[in-house]
Order: sequence, then structure tokens, then C-alpha cells
Amino acid sequence: MTHYVVGITGGIGSGKSTVAERFEKLGIVVADADQASREIVEPGQDAYLAILEKFGNPVLLEDGTLNRAYLRQKIFAEKTNRLWLEKLTHLPIMQNLKDKLQSAKSAYGILMLSTGAGKSPLMDRMIVVDVTPDVQISRVKERDHNDEALIRKIMASQPNREDRLSWADDVIENNGDLVSLKQTVYDLHQYYLRLANHA
Ligand code: ADP
Repeated sequence: MTHYVVGITGGIGSGKSTVAERFEKLGIVVADADQASREIVEPGQDAYLAILEKFGNPVLLEDGTLNRAYLRQKIFAEKTNRLWLEKLTHLPIMQNLKDKLQSAKSAYGILMLSTGAGKSPLMDRMIVVDVTPDVQISRVKERDHNDEALIRKIMASQPNREDRLSWADDVIENNGDLVSLKQTVYDLHQYYLRLANHA
């Protein structure tokens, strides 16, 4: 297992994926909870079967994979559905992420949590990617073409900005352009190489 793990979190549209991609370009292995959450509901997996049993055939697309848009609607319409799904998927997601970090050969690993969860015991350090709510909404609008009401609903379901910032060992302020983001990630990378070396 790579012996040093840096977590990344941040609200929807804060730039987590963009930051993770930059670390990947620098040769660092990224274990991504979003990707893990897709892998553990592939057809035939335990979580897939449990979701099918609860929501029935409408939760499937014609090719038998999960209709994620339908599932998302169910989750945001009904809090108990969200809690049920979180409980079902938590352990398989964590196992998937651990497996990825365990086989990572890079000097340190990145663990990207999408849901805005707090610091996990798997992490030695945590980055919070932070943007103002206005920037957040405009970037998600442009990326996903969602309406503002849905974006605000998703934001409200995530931890608030102050709580998230209180978990940070390092904050990446991402209201600026991609050039300055790239430089910030590069500087942090140099720092993490030193930390991982001495850990
Ligand atoms: P998250 O993974 O946190 O939801 P993303 O990394 O997908 O966020 O970023 C949200 C959107 O904003 C994407 O379309 C991304 O390309 C864009 N983006 C991220 N950082 C910047 C930046 N510094 N300048 C301009 N656009 C950015």
C-alpha cells in the first residue's frame, strides 16, 4: 500500500476532479469515490441487486445497467431513500478505494471523496477545494446544464462550506483560473513528496 494518502474533498463543482486530474498527470494514483460508487453497482454486484429489489425495473436502462438519473431523482425526492442507499454502498465503496490505494505504486496516493464526507481514517492529510457559492453554481450550470434550483438542492444536501473548511489541512482556493490552479497543485505535490518521504 502506498503509505501516505492525501484526501480531497469539496462541494459539487468546486474543482475536485480537475485537481485530481492534475495530481494524476504528475504520476499520482487517484482512488475516486465517484468512480468506486459506479463500479460497485455494476450489473450482478450485491449493491446492484439490492437496488433493483427496492426500486424495481424502472431503475434499469434497457441494457440492464442502472438508470442513474432515475435513481438520483428518487434519492433527492426522499431522504430515507438517500440514507438507505448510503448505508448500502458505504462499505463496498470503502473496500474498492482501499484496494486501489493498496496496489498504488506512486510516492503517495490521492483519495477523492465526492460526497463531502469528513476526514477518513484512510487519510494522512486532507485538501479541501473551496470556491464561492456563485462560482460553484455557475461552473456546475455550465458543466451539467442543470437548473439552479437542482444545484442549490444538491449543495444544501452537502456539508456547509464552514464545516468543510474546518476539516482541511490544506485549502485550495479555486476561484481563479486553471493556470493558477495548476501551479497550486504542483506546489502541493512537491510538499507531499517531502511529507511522504519522511512519513
Ligand atoms: P467537482 O469534481 O468538484 O464537481 P470539477 O472539477 O468537475 O468539480 O469542476 C467543475 C467545472 O468547473 C468543470 O467543468 C471544470 O472544468 C471547471 N473548472 C474547475 N476549475 C476551474 C478553474 N480554475 N477555472 C475554470 N473552470 C474550472
